Amino acid sequence: MIIDRGTRKRLIETVANRVIASAEELTDLDRAIGDGDHGTNMRRGFEAVLAAADDLSAKSFGESLKGVGTTLVMKVGGASGPLYGTLFLSLGKSLADDVSREQLADAFAAAIEAVKARGKSDVGQKTMLDVLFPVLAVLREGGEGFPARLRATAKAAAENTIPMKAIRGRASFLGERSIGHMDPGARSSALIVDAVADVMEGRA
Ligand code: ADP
Ligand code: MG
Repeated sequence: MIIDRGTRKRLIETVANRVIASAEELTDLDRAIGDGDHGTNMRRGFEAVLAAADDLSAKSFGESLKGVGTTLVMKVGGASGPLYGTLFLSLGKSLADDVSREQLADAFAAAIEAVKARGKSDVGQKTMLDVLFPVLAVLREGGEGFPARLRATAKAAAENTIPMKAIRGRASFLGERSIGHMDPGARSSALIVDAVADVMEGRA
């Protein structure tokens, strides 16, 4: 598929608007097991991305993704800023405007490894990785109606963090008390995937 300028703009705007609209939900989740800033952090970052949407989408897909990553590193702050920044910067390094689903999956796998290295974290620790990893499996699999499966998998994966005990990030300070709450970063990752699936299906 070709990710042309219009598609780049729709991707950037749809993702940014979804995160901005969900800031309160994310902050509520972070209030339960963190310091209650995930929504404001993400909103600040994606408002900056949205403001730059025209400039960013005028660049190649790779450069626009790198631009998103750099903006998130600069604006989001907290633990999640550098991690989401790393994710988008890494995606931008390998993706061209003409991209196959296989290439997308390879780039996403590399980006997950970059996040793991940056966060010294892994799957099963109640973080964004617990959504990103199952999403990668769906991307690899492809097939009929895969955007809908991306969306459903991401949502379920975020919900699956509820019974987990946090091993990384601020929530890990709570130990057993982190059990019973959805991880805010897992939820924000699911929202981003949901928005991307909307664009893939031509809904946005
Ligand atoms: P902070 O924890 O600094 O307040 P945020 O509230 O913005 O930052 O982000 C918290 C989210 O970041 C967590 O819910 C989790 O998903 C993610 N996170 C934190 N630390 C790590 C890590 N080491 N690896 C992966 N994700 C992490
Ligand atoms: Mg926080």
